[in-house]
Amino acid sequence: MDFFRHSASFLFGTAALALLIAAPKATAQNLQSVSNYSRTHEALLASQQRIQDQIRLEETQRYANHLYEETEPEPDIYTEGWGSTHVNSYKNAVIPNSKVIDVRNYHIPVPGYVTSPYGYRPRFHRMHKGIDLKLNIGDTVRAAFTGKVRLTRFERGGYGFYVVLRHENGLETVYGHLSRFLVHPDQYVRAGQPIALGGNTGGSTGPHLHFETRFMGVAINPAAIFDFRNQVTHTDYFTFDKRTYDQARDYSPSERIAAARASHAAAESSVGSSTSTYTVKNGDNLGRIASQHGMSLTELCSLNGFTRYAHIHPGDVLKVK
Ligand SMILES: [Zn+2]
Repeated sequence: MDFFRHSASFLFGTAALALLIAAPKATAQNLQSVSNYSRTHEALLASQQRIQDQIRLEETQRYANHLYEETEPEPDIYTEGWGSTHVNSYKNAVIPNSKVIDVRNYHIPVPGYVTSPYGYRPRFHRMHKGIDLKLNIGDTVRAAFTGKVRLTRFERGGYGFYVVLRHENGLETVYGHLSRFLVHPDQYVRAGQPIALGGNTGGSTGPHLHFETRFMGVAINPAAIFDFRNQVTHTDYFTFDKRTYDQARDYSPSERIAAARASHAAAESSVGSSTSTYTVKNGDNLGRIASQHGMSLTELCSLNGFTRYAHIHPGDVLKVK
């Protein structure tokens, strides 16, 4: 609208200028020579040109400013649902179909192994929306990515003392069962910066970190992003896909172990005991287990139906010779 209003005043201005040019014309013919008149006329035309240029410039600027105001502002990631006290602050948000998330600048929150995977827990008839990582009370818990603290809260039956961070890459991470906060809401944190001390608060049966990764409130299996065993990310960019996020949700490196365990149980009940079992202990790796049982790594893997890159955790039961 501004543009049109301005156009109107511009037209009025032009009309006024035309009158200014016309007015001296009558007297100039009487009082000035033709050459003088001509010079005046040219000067007027020249000044008119400058004024028009000025008007055009101002008009262009105003119009540009107007356009600029109309432009959708760059979304501020620390705005949407920022005041929410819920772990999922995006309850009514429209989740994009796909989002490539830069996970290059990361830090594993604690170095402990996975004590409980992400996924549905039949015993409790509910989803476990994070992954549990072993720690001792008082161990340092670090920010997984760079970002800003959204919440530091306490929930008696659930998370206990917990921190929610929102990251520059669009993810949010949740850290539960803590014993002490080292940060406060609205504080900026770098990846790897200590944010809390680990604990056993809330609905926890032993010291561990409950760690969640969420995109717009949707819980993603942290193991789809992080390789906790090797303390790295699987890839530089994690692609969230709305159509397949269920896959990411259910992604579990220990799935193969579980499948192997199930097939082992089935084999044992039908075939008998040509193989025995080995329960994985803390610090074990596939190579060591294989050599301890006089097997090659390939043999051990094929017997259990997984690859040499399978993740094993203490308590997993493997088939051995
Ligand atoms: Zn948990």
